[in-house]
Amino acid sequence: MTLTTSLDGYEVWFVTGSQNLYGEETLRQVAEQSQQVVAGLAGLPVRVVWKPVLKDSDAIRRLALEVNARDDVIGVMAWMHTFSPAKMWISGLDALQKPLLHLHTQANVELPWADIDFDFMNLNQAAHGDREFGYIQTRLGVARKTVVGHVSNPAVLQQVEDWQRAAAGWQAVRTLKLARFGDNMRYVAVTEGDKTEAELRFGVQVNTWGVNELADAVAAASDADIDALVEVYLAEYDVAEELLPGGDRHQSLRDGAAIEVGLRSFLEAGGFGAFTTSFEDLGSLKQLPGLAVQRLMAEGYGFGAEGDWKTAILVRVANVMGAGRPGGASLMEDYTYDLVAGDEKILGAHMLEVAPSLTTAKPRLEIHPLGIGGKDDPVRLVFTADPGPALVVAMSDMRDRFRLVANVVENVEAPDLPQLPVGRAIWKPAPDFATSAACWLAAGAAHHTVMTTAVGIEVFRDFAEIAKTELVVIDEDTTVRGFQRELRWNQAYYRLAQGL
Ligand code: MN
Repeated sequence: MTLTTSLDGYEVWFVTGSQNLYGEETLRQVAEQSQQVVAGLAGLPVRVVWKPVLKDSDAIRRLALEVNARDDVIGVMAWMHTFSPAKMWISGLDALQKPLLHLHTQANVELPWADIDFDFMNLNQAAHGDREFGYIQTRLGVARKTVVGHVSNPAVLQQVEDWQRAAAGWQAVRTLKLARFGDNMRYVAVTEGDKTEAELRFGVQVNTWGVNELADAVAAASDADIDALVEVYLAEYDVAEELLPGGDRHQSLRDGAAIEVGLRSFLEAGGFGAFTTSFEDLGSLKQLPGLAVQRLMAEGYGFGAEGDWKTAILVRVANVMGAGRPGGASLMEDYTYDLVAGDEKILGAHMLEVAPSLTTAKPRLEIHPLGIGGKDDPVRLVFTADPGPALVVAMSDMRDRFRLVANVVENVEAPDLPQLPVGRAIWKPAPDFATSAACWLAAGAAHHTVMTTAVGIEVFRDFAEIAKTELVVIDEDTTVRGFQRELRWNQAYYRLAQGL
């Protein structure tokens, strides 16, 4: 089964609330105008499908059950054009298990001041109809996003798009199967975590396979498959001369290609969308998987190194949420600092495994020794992430819950790094280096992250809301003191929110 990362197969259903009180003519107008609202939502990455106006409890509950049962319907948008008494919504909202967006909008932009009469008032009641709906959502504790404004406003469309992307990320994680090859790196704390809790909270299935099962799949790679893949490498990358056909080290490139063929066939056969490796447990693999992992991440797979399945989940989710947008998502690790005062930068990289979707330049395909792992020199793609806005997000297991920590950052131009042949990114974190690092450490956030250059913080905020998972954000408004207070409050809030 080939992995799908596109949003094309998904739908979001648009429902309009009303009641039977108004009579045929008004309800016909409600239906017509809500279809116009949906027409205004055309062009979003996930198709918005208009549904007949909901007028009673039974219809609302049945719609929720239908949405729950369909994998292609990833969320519901709701609008109360007229007044829809909200007790009608209790069983439906209670049953709904998909992301919800409350669109607080109106059919018209301007009021027709000269002509307005009570028929108009009767039809255009969202100003209070949606307040009634807000009440019942809050009373029931329904997680949702509220977007306010007319659909002709680009800011409104952007907020809906962000939520659609988050809903797609949620759908992806609900159905995600993650294969771990080997265990976590020995003695490391932050890459550990409760895999049973992860399946309950996120839906992701995290399971482990012996690395020699992967090695068997690699050994089974045919010469023809390897030949074909080498051709792809030659076409897509600037390949070092020693790796070219006839070059001294061409066999190492073929070994790298065999790893990709085997890894891909294993993942496809098992329906996996994410995986981890461990340099301490490579079995009979000839190299630490570098090139293959880089390419698979760029295609949409989730990946975490050193057994880090939590980051692998984030990379998969970020890949789906960013589908169709420029940029990409990758495993990243805060590696080392440039501490020049006032111009501090973070150099991020990994041993090998950074996705080339972070660059628009043609990566170089090279081979170099790797002091760790005790295997043959691995082939790898060498590049620097494009300058521009980016986001790093980490997941920690706090014992009683998962915590997401995000930092808004800016990738900057890299100087020449002739002695550093890995994929890397160089960034300045918001609001400034010292605040960012102090907050990151205070939050107990991991050293592995997903870096995404395709989606911004709002999409992750929406994802965390849908996932009912703590997210603390370090951005231009963050202060260390305020951040520490938030952590303390969250400690209490998330325990209380779970109940006993
Ligand atoms: Mn690492």
